[in-house]
Amino acid sequence: MEYFIDKVKGIAVLDSRGFPTVAAEVTLKSGESAVAMVPSGASTGEYEAVEIRDAEQAYCGKGVSKAVLNINTLIAPAVVGKSAFNQEQIDDIMIKLDSTENKSSLGANAILAVSLAVAKAAAKQLKLPLYRYLGNAFSNRLPVPMMNILNGGAHASNNIDIQEFMIMPVGANSFSEGLRQCSEIYMSLKSILHSLGKSTAVGDEGGFAPDLESDEQAIEIIMKAVKKAGYNSDNTKIALDAAASEWYKDGVYHLPKRNINMTTQELITYFDKLCAMYPIVSIEDPLSENDWEGFVKITELLGDKVQIVGDDLFVTNEKRLSQGISMGAGNAILVKVNQIGTLTESFKAIDRAHRAGYKTVISHRSGETEDTTIADLAVAVNSGQIKTGAPCRGERTAKYNRLLFIEDELSDRSTFYFG
Ligand code: PGA
Ligand code: ZN
Repeated sequence: MEYFIDKVKGIAVLDSRGFPTVAAEVTLKSGESAVAMVPSGASTGEYEAVEIRDAEQAYCGKGVSKAVLNINTLIAPAVVGKSAFNQEQIDDIMIKLDSTENKSSLGANAILAVSLAVAKAAAKQLKLPLYRYLGNAFSNRLPVPMMNILNGGAHASNNIDIQEFMIMPVGANSFSEGLRQCSEIYMSLKSILHSLGKSTAVGDEGGFAPDLESDEQAIEIIMKAVKKAGYNSDNTKIALDAAASEWYKDGVYHLPKRNINMTTQELITYFDKLCAMYPIVSIEDPLSENDWEGFVKITELLGDKVQIVGDDLFVTNEKRLSQGISMGAGNAILVKVNQIGTLTESFKAIDRAHRAGYKTVISHRSGETEDTTIADLAVAVNSGQIKTGAPCRGERTAKYNRLLFIEDELSDRSTFYFG
């Protein structure tokens, strides 16, 4: 049959940090073929599916030759001859072949590359855009960017503990208008930092990482940039990613940059105060991946007005998400396909979230490539939110640019709104 998988090939390519990552090319009997490349995180959660990296000296121990070999010698023979339209079956074959809970035998990087490339090849075979193949006739919602423009934490060598300060153009009428708004704010932030004599060098996700005194000062400078660009706190909101798992050790939170210890309750009070002072609409990982009770408490306190997003907490894992839903921990999930390792399992987590009234935010990783699958995924599932960095660095703008093309293609059928 035309749509059966004929060939699967793994190859090592570079990611945006210059480290190798896994790409897979899937060719169908029809001759249609597609390539997918997998991303890679820096502040990875404890419960994520794991990447396989070579132990050898090459590429500072970050090589992926073993993962690539797994595609070529183990995955390829298992999926060749199968229908590319049967995504779930193919993902299931790889999950069973791996047979570990965290995909450590074949490597989540090897499995995901094939999983994504199969979907892309299937879409091409049907001559459908990927968002339409993965979605349905009503997949028309463009996501509101959650755009990381200022960095601290593990993503920057400054004195701010919160990892990401993001802007959301909630008042824009369309994706392209929202993107323009964010870019203009990014430009005005750059000129403000420049006039203050601060660094405008960019971090892994394209945001700035200047030396600043405090989280409050970071947000205030952003709000100044918002104003300077001609926008305000009604049409531009703030989202934070605290990435608090990085702070947690032996029952206390140690904020390394400020060198202070905080309890769960003190942190919750701190975030409550920030939300009272600034137009914050979303906080990701305000507490650690093991602090379920803390997540329940902060959701009870702030969940009515603020989105509480589980990244390291849920790791795109339906089981962990279900636990959170039953406890009332968080009210949204960050979706990173490489945290779980297959497209099928990512869809299961998204579906579970939507059925429970949890929001979904489709997300990149700090190590990325020019692969734009997540842009299509966000539209396919009508997620409504995407986190894919600053409007800077090709691997970030590739996703925004793909969304501009999708918006153009959908024309007046596209929708764009927050909430
Ligand atoms: P990572 O960071 O890709 O380095 O894990 C992104 C995030 O924490 O959301
Ligand atoms: Zn995060």
